[in-house]
Amino acid sequence: MTISAEPYVAQLFIDGEWVPSASGATRDIRCPADGSLVGIAAEADEGDTDRAIQAARRAFDVGPWNTLAATERGALLNRVADFLERDANKIARAEALDTGKRLVEANYDVADVVRSFRYFAGIAGTDAGRVVDTTSSTTISRVVYDPVGVCGLITPWNYPLLQASWKVAPALAAGCTFVIKPSELTPHTTVLLMQILVEAGMPAGVGNLVLGAGPTAGAPLSSHPDIDLVSFTGGLVTGRAVMAAASASVKKVALELGGKNPNIVFADADREAALDNALTAVFLHSGQVCSAGARLIVEESIHDEFVAELVRRAQLIRLGGPFDPNAETGALISFAHRDKVQSYVERACAEGAVLRCGGTPPADSTLASGSYFLPTILDECHSQMRCVQDESFGPVMTVETFVTEEEAIAIGNDTYYGLAGAVWTQDAGKAQRVAGRLRHGTIWINDYHPYLPQAEWGGFKQSGVGRELGPSGLHEYLEPKHVYQNLSPAPSNWFNPRLAEG
Ligand code: NAD
Repeated sequence: MTISAEPYVAQLFIDGEWVPSASGATRDIRCPADGSLVGIAAEADEGDTDRAIQAARRAFDVGPWNTLAATERGALLNRVADFLERDANKIARAEALDTGKRLVEANYDVADVVRSFRYFAGIAGTDAGRVVDTTSSTTISRVVYDPVGVCGLITPWNYPLLQASWKVAPALAAGCTFVIKPSELTPHTTVLLMQILVEAGMPAGVGNLVLGAGPTAGAPLSSHPDIDLVSFTGGLVTGRAVMAAASASVKKVALELGGKNPNIVFADADREAALDNALTAVFLHSGQVCSAGARLIVEESIHDEFVAELVRRAQLIRLGGPFDPNAETGALISFAHRDKVQSYVERACAEGAVLRCGGTPPADSTLASGSYFLPTILDECHSQMRCVQDESFGPVMTVETFVTEEEAIAIGNDTYYGLAGAVWTQDAGKAQRVAGRLRHGTIWINDYHPYLPQAEWGGFKQSGVGRELGPSGLHEYLEPKHVYQNLSPAPSNWFNPRLAEG
């Protein structure tokens, strides 16, 4: 089954021009749902990225983007949001074809992208800094915010346009210039975003796009001395490499990395809501969500009944392509990634986890050309197991049990990640106590997955450095600067006044 029309052609965008890579190299982009060719993308190397960085550097140093009134930059972001809404169907379809996610999910993503642009449009220029008391009427001291400079933005394949919007919108609102590199697997919607930015009036050089592999097209964004900040969303191992490369020029680093997120269910939880959301927590987008509730931690007294029902429901989830109206979840991003998920499950079983369902690709021959994997539940796990600690980034739930509230908190915190988590109970006091002590960047109580552009997103521990969204998401792209003015200058005579006597 071929689900795409004519493949798109994606080029680099450098200094206001759409260009091929200098080498002429290209990469085929295939839909994970059926392997069909959906696009052909220019494949940049270090030289292309260097040219893009130079363009962004010039645009920042020469201006006037960074010295425009922030409200004018905000107005551009609002125009971008308008154009995104106008083109929403086309963009959602492009996202679905590149990622294999269902069109309905891609539609939600585009709506979220619009909200991100509008949020940062709205807060651009609302924080002019502060006046500091100098205890003197003849001096003025102000803290103001400068744009941080040239930003390298690196994004993953699971939410390509959404992750791009969380970086591009605040970077532009702050007055920065940027070079963005989307995942080599899913470039299309970032290309569409760049076209819209140009249509909305973004000056040449302010935003630049390179496409291609991380170690070649992407690496200069973390190592190049002309980049002032690198903002990276992706896996932990790549994040460490980005941070190490950035250290040579001591650039600012923002990292949004993985998670192994606890979903804690107490016996007194609303059972139907907890069950239903436990499935969505981990199986949404086939588990390819950084905040997926992949780690179910359930009170021992309800474990058997709760897990039996989860297994029954997980086996009923229907897999299918982006435009299959009956599909409830899609394929994994690639066959290589599916192999990784499968070997993760095999290792889990070898270390003692009990496979309750899934663990393999589906037997359905109509899905054979896509990289599908069955919703999988691994029972009888504990936090010393690698399968509980490491991210599978697939449709795999591990199940642990607890007896006391204290134990639930300890297990929920027993992870080197700290991105998100949830607690399910009808006891409001218990919910707040547990939420207060969980060491994760987002805590949901009696819910899973909602996030708001107004609220900070990011991780404790090895889930990252810094925050996206909320006021902090804008401040990542700003440098505080202290400006102190003496209104009545006079010699300080620190040294003997004879020095001034000639
Ligand atoms: P990845 O680390 O493999 O790749 C991410 C990006 O980094 C891609 O664009 C890739 O080309 C690039 N890259 C690879 N090597 C590089 C290098 N040496 N230098 C510079 N760039 C390089 O991650 P992925 O597989 O695309 O995405 C999945 C991961 O992203 C998961 O771990 C997931 O948890 C994480 N993620 C986190 C969040 C969050 O908000 N915390 C959101 C989405 C995804």
